[in-house]
Order: sequence, then structure tokens, then C-alpha cells
Amino acid sequence: TFRPAARLEGLAVSEILRIGARAKALADAGHPVIVLGAGEPDFDTPLHVKAAGVAAIEGGDTKYTALDGTPALKAAICAKLQRENGLTYTPAEVTVAAGAKQIIYNAMMATLDAGDEVIIPTPYWTTYSAIVKIAGGVPVLIPCDDSVGFKLQPAALAAAITPKTRWLMLNTPSNPTGAAYDAAELQALIDVLKTAPQVWLMTDEIYEHITYDGFKCVSPVAVDSAIRPRCLIVNGVSKAYAMTGWRIGYGAGPAALIKAMAVVQSQATSNPASMAQAAAVAALNGPQDEVAARAASFAARRDLVVQRLNAIDGITCRQPEGAFYAFASCAGLIGARTPSGDVLASDRDFCSWLLESSYVATVPGAAFGLQPYFRISYATAMAELEEALDRIAAACSTLT
Ligand code: PLP
Repeated sequence: TFRPAARLEGLAVSEILRIGARAKALADAGHPVIVLGAGEPDFDTPLHVKAAGVAAIEGGDTKYTALDGTPALKAAICAKLQRENGLTYTPAEVTVAAGAKQIIYNAMMATLDAGDEVIIPTPYWTTYSAIVKIAGGVPVLIPCDDSVGFKLQPAALAAAITPKTRWLMLNTPSNPTGAAYDAAELQALIDVLKTAPQVWLMTDEIYEHITYDGFKCVSPVAVDSAIRPRCLIVNGVSKAYAMTGWRIGYGAGPAALIKAMAVVQSQATSNPASMAQAAAVAALNGPQDEVAARAASFAARRDLVVQRLNAIDGITCRQPEGAFYAFASCAGLIGARTPSGDVLASDRDFCSWLLESSYVATVPGAAFGLQPYFRISYATAMAELEEALDRIAAACSTLT
């Protein structure tokens, strides 16, 4: 009989994928399903980026490349960090992998010993805690609810640090909440880290270009260079350039860490796909105007979603600074009764009832470690969003 390794205990493929599968089954059965669960931009990879991928294939760029990134892609990443973040990194301080997800995986595998602790502000992108566990570490979850804007507070960070703490994982703007840290908030967290030199900072900036109301995302390294010798910047092309399927993410940090991460990658996947790297070069070096234009189109969707959610009795939603997610509290609906007499005892109950009765797929806060909330991804066409919110409002009005 099959016996999984102990390190997989408590881990499963993500709840988001399971909800997606149920949504697909309902759609296949002929129901008008609207999926607000996906963490994926709804627009297409830019044409000049696709063309660069095609040209790479046709030009024979189809073999193994340098282990953790071609010189051309590393140069494009260094140029991007300089141009957009005001940060100077050399190619030896940059690494490329099959998605930001693999960057995080490489970093944890390269640094965690059994029992090492990683502080994760909660709610968090599910992958963070799963990777820490696979790498033998212990996720230390700090609840950050809407009363603190879903942001880690310096005092809570200070209280969570122990001699075993190796990393703090920050994600700004955040999946699932859309909350983003301004420079002063980052400085306050860095000040705490200055008192704990054993703690490194991983900063996941993959949504940096998707911000609203003039909010400007700033990297902690740009806020205070004192953190640079123990900071790993994580980023990628998936969200900014609608390139989720190409699987290219990158990291920037101290050369010794980057080198250790390359050892992990060399024995797992080797280099990321050659043609995808060529396409990523085109994305990073090419025109950037589409990136801003898309952020503007997300802004209108955010306004609609937040406004409509807050108009529903029992639901409250904080205005996100970035990303394409709204993380709404459904605390006011917990304990309510559906028309068929079922009691909604949790956010999981609420989300599955919405899906089964109104064919709208959302993800419960429980999947991200904080209840009772639910996440709506608004990387969806405006008309569909409007229809989905009509249905959610109508469904909630039937609760007693
Ligand atoms: N980081 C965050 C916070 C994300 O939400 C995602 C994707 O959902 C990623 C990283 C991973 O992106 P990729 O592995 O496609 O680069």
C-alpha cells in the first residue's frame, strides 16, 4: 500500500483547486457558474512577449541554459530592479526559477533546518506555510485581521521572534487581502528585525504594479538598505505580464543565498524553460505601458466589488491598496439560516452554499488561515463581476 512521507502530513493540493473542480463540474452540468476564485489575470500575454517566445523556439533556443537564468534574463532583471525599484543588484545576486513559487521553495530548502521557525502574517498565500512545512520548518502564524488592515504590526512581530526564527515572509500587496505596506510601515518592521540579526526577510513583490489610488509599492530594501544583507526579494512575470503559464519567477538577494538556492534547483529542475526565459526578457525590457493600463482597469473592478460587498447586510470589506483580490468579512452571516434550513456555521459553509445555490465560486478565508472571511478575485470581466455580485446580494437577502 502507498505510504506518503511524513513531511506531507496535513498537506493537500490547494482548496482553491478543489473549489475550481467543483465549479467546473457544476458548469459541465449546465449551470451558469461564475468563478471568482482564480489568482490569474484575465487578459492575454502581450503579443511582443509571445513573439519573443516563438522566435526563441524557431531560432533554436531550445536547449539547457545556464542553471539559474540566462545572462540576458539576469541582465534584464538587474535593469528592472534599477529602473523600477532604484536597487542595484549584480547577476550573481539574481536567480531565476520556474515561477516565484519555486524561488520561495528553493530559498526555504536552502536555509531551513528541522524545527526552524518562519513567521507568516495571516491570512497568507497558502503556499507559504506549505513550503515551510515541506522544508522541515515550522510556520509561525500571526493573525492580522481587518482591524489592523490585514497588516503585521511591529509589536506582534517582536513578540513572535525566537532564537529559532529564520525568516519573516512578507507579501505586499497581499494575496489574499490586497493590503500593501507603505514605507513607514515597512521601516517599523525593519526596525524590529534590526534587533534580531538571525531573522531574514523574504519580500514577495509579485503584485507590485497592481496598485490603486496612486499607492506606490516600495521594496523594503529601498526603504532601508540595512536589511539588504539578509533580504530576499521575490518577484516574477506571472501577474504583471499575464504570463502564469510560462513559469518564470526571480529572486534577488545576497550572493551566498543565491548560490545555495542554485544548488537546490540544480538537483530538482535545472534551468527554467529556455523559450520562457527569452519571453521574460522581452516582457522586462519591452514597453511597460500595458502594465499601468491594466492596473487602471483593475481599479474600476475593485471599486465595484468593494462597494457592492459593503452594501450587503452582514458583509464588510476593506478597500485594498493593490493586487486583484477583495477579502471580505462574512462574520455577520455566520449562524444565519438558508432557505432550505441549513445553518451557515463557518466561512467554508458560506462559500460552498454560494457555489451550490448561486453558482458563484469564491474561496473561504479558512483556506488562507483566517476566518470568517471570503476572498473574491476580481481578475474577471466587469459584466461577470456585476452578475456575480447581483447573485451574492440576492442570495444573502434570503438568509434569516
Ligand atoms: N506570490 C503570490 C503572493 C502569489 O499569489 C502567487 C500566485 O498566485 C505567486 C507568488 C506565484 O507566482 P508564480 O509562481 O506564477 O510566479
